Amino acid sequence: MNADIAAASQELKGGGVVILPTETVYGLAANALDEKAVRKIFTIKGRPLNNPLILHVLDSSWLERYSHVKKYPVRVEKITGAFWPGPITIILPKKAVIPDIVTSGYGTVAIRCPDHPIFRAVLLASDLPLAAPSANPFGYVSPTCIGQVKATLGDRVKIMLDGGECAVGLESTILDITSTVPKILRPGAIAADAIAKVLGEDVIDYDVQIVSKNPCVPGQLKQHYCTDTRLVLFEHGNRDLSQYFAGRTAIVFTQRPKDFDGTVKNLQLLAEAILWFSDDGNLNVVARNLFSTLQRLDFAHYDTILCERPPRTGIGIAIDDRLLRAAAKFRR
Ligand code: AMP
Ligand code: MG
Repeated sequence: MNADIAAASQELKGGGVVILPTETVYGLAANALDEKAVRKIFTIKGRPLNNPLILHVLDSSWLERYSHVKKYPVRVEKITGAFWPGPITIILPKKAVIPDIVTSGYGTVAIRCPDHPIFRAVLLASDLPLAAPSANPFGYVSPTCIGQVKATLGDRVKIMLDGGECAVGLESTILDITSTVPKILRPGAIAADAIAKVLGEDVIDYDVQIVSKNPCVPGQLKQHYCTDTRLVLFEHGNRDLSQYFAGRTAIVFTQRPKDFDGTVKNLQLLAEAILWFSDDGNLNVVARNLFSTLQRLDFAHYDTILCERPPRTGIGIAIDDRLLRAAAKFRR
């Protein structure tokens, strides 16, 4: 693995891109200080240039290099102390050293400190801040294992480091600490109440209804994370599903249906496949399996994927956000 880390680091220093695991999803990384290298990310993903990237750093001591962190010393200290390395990104005023292409011309930059030994080893070896969005074609399901990356970007990037399955499986929580009241721009594994507790102040939680009508930053797209296969959501606990069937249909529950009771037996007669994201409804497991299951079903070419919404508590808010946006493409 040391040779792989060295090769990835060399590639990044030379202006190339590499695929690296993080604890959230797999990333397509480039040296954030090299505009030409960052441009490659946008080209490979087909990502619009108005969608800013997240900068990845080794630890909070790097913040000073790239942002005016001293404007928010207390908030930054509390958040990074409690959650870094980990799946939370903070928005800070940017320093001029960060090229505009990274931030889509915004005066702020999104910064995160990932918690995956391979990503961290590459940060240490290269000593570079890495811009890294998810390693997938823009708008498609995010990758949480190397097989998913290979299936979509496999021939476009030379160096891909396999770090196993992503432990979290959902993109980071994004927290804007520059606003008067700190505000969640994207829900993730770290939920609003945990953040409010650490900050000791109110936090404006993410509201999917408001955001989809009125996005306040690019990237809050109504439609994202989409399968090619028609994806239809049903309410948590609903078993009256026959109305949703269309052609060859697969159903995914959040939890293994209890003893395959009568209702589910009827569904078995209709459905081509019945799957579940977790055995016991543990929402962390649902999150971990969400994207890989959706991509697997997409590649199996059903006509319809019927997917159960999770309970909207804790990380369930983030899972539900991804599902709503994934299904938005198919809603009439
Ligand atoms: P991802 O799409 O996972 O690469 O995450 C990038 C997302 O972070 C973007 O789509 C935006 O929603 C958000 N983001 C990045 N930079 C900024 C910024 N300067 N201000 C607000 N949101 C940002
Ligand atoms: Mg993405």
